Amino acid sequence: MKYFRPKTLDELHLISEQNFTLLVGGTDLIPRYERGQKLPETIIDLKQLPNFTGIKKIGNNIEIGAGTTIEGIKNNNFIIKHFYALWQATTEFGSVQIRNRATIGGNICNASPAGDTLPTLYAFNAKLLLCNKNGNRTIPIEKFIAGPGKTAMKDGEILLTVILPLTSSNSMFYKLGLREAMAISVINFATAYDENELTIAIGAVAPTIIKLSGLEMLYIDQILDKVDRAISPIDDIRATANYRRKALQNMLRFELSKIVKI
Ligand SMILES: Cc1cc2nc3c(=O)[nH]c(=O)nc-3n(C[C@H](O)[C@H](O)[C@H](O)COP(=O)(O)OP(=O)(O)OC[C@H]3O[C@@H](n4cnc5c(N)ncnc54)[C@H](O)[C@@H]3O)c2cc1C
Repeated sequence: MKYFRPKTLDELHLISEQNFTLLVGGTDLIPRYERGQKLPETIIDLKQLPNFTGIKKIGNNIEIGAGTTIEGIKNNNFIIKHFYALWQATTEFGSVQIRNRATIGGNICNASPAGDTLPTLYAFNAKLLLCNKNGNRTIPIEKFIAGPGKTAMKDGEILLTVILPLTSSNSMFYKLGLREAMAISVINFATAYDENELTIAIGAVAPTIIKLSGLEMLYIDQILDKVDRAISPIDDIRATANYRRKALQNMLRFELSKIVKI
């Protein structure tokens, strides 16, 4: 197996002519090989690319380098202040060892319906900056994630930056797992709300995150009804579809009773 660690985007684009697999934290990738998936011929490790890690305020946005670890996000003051639900998601993510390797870009590109940062990124209207040798493009996260493990990534493209428009919305994240820590979410959801707007984004109840906006004028029962019609959960090793529906209704009723009309 060949292993490359480019230090510039030009170097990356030269190597990306070949058949390759991208590696960052490896916390999704390495377990796949341990489970018996064939090893790739070429691995390109993105960790040393410039501006690939770190969190900056640029204009009216917070920009998170795709290679920023979950622990790095958890320890950032901008995130705690402006994107509380994302911060909450990082506190419930894996273990300290996993959080120090796992990256936000890896969580997005892995495109698991249960990925814990995803509902918060949908609720905060995240955009993604992608790049390949032909240039850059920015797309909303909803247009990037296409299904379990499927994204709109083009040939030779990488995810460079996650862009979050600054917001004064309140927000919260909730995760239901089969145990308190190191659990894949059975359900997770994020809400973002102020007097004018309420958005709910829910994970692990459909092939991609389900996002509902414009809910602020509704009563709780109307919101719960809309949610129930929008989701399409399945039975899997963690829970039945029926359990997911009921647990989601109960958890949402509890959380929403703090913020909307009963
Ligand atoms: C023990 C354990 C516990 C876990 N707990 C949680 C949890 O609580 N919540 C949760 O959501 N997940 C959890 N995970 C899953 C995993 O840690 C996350 O999905 C993590 O964010 C993946 O990031 P990574 O940098 O390790 O990705 P990698 O494994 O390096 O990559 C994942 C995939 O994305 C691609 N990729 C990565 N970055 C880029 C990029 N910038 N551009 C293009 N492609 C890219 C890779 O090619 C690969 O296909 C856990 C995993 C383990 C092993």
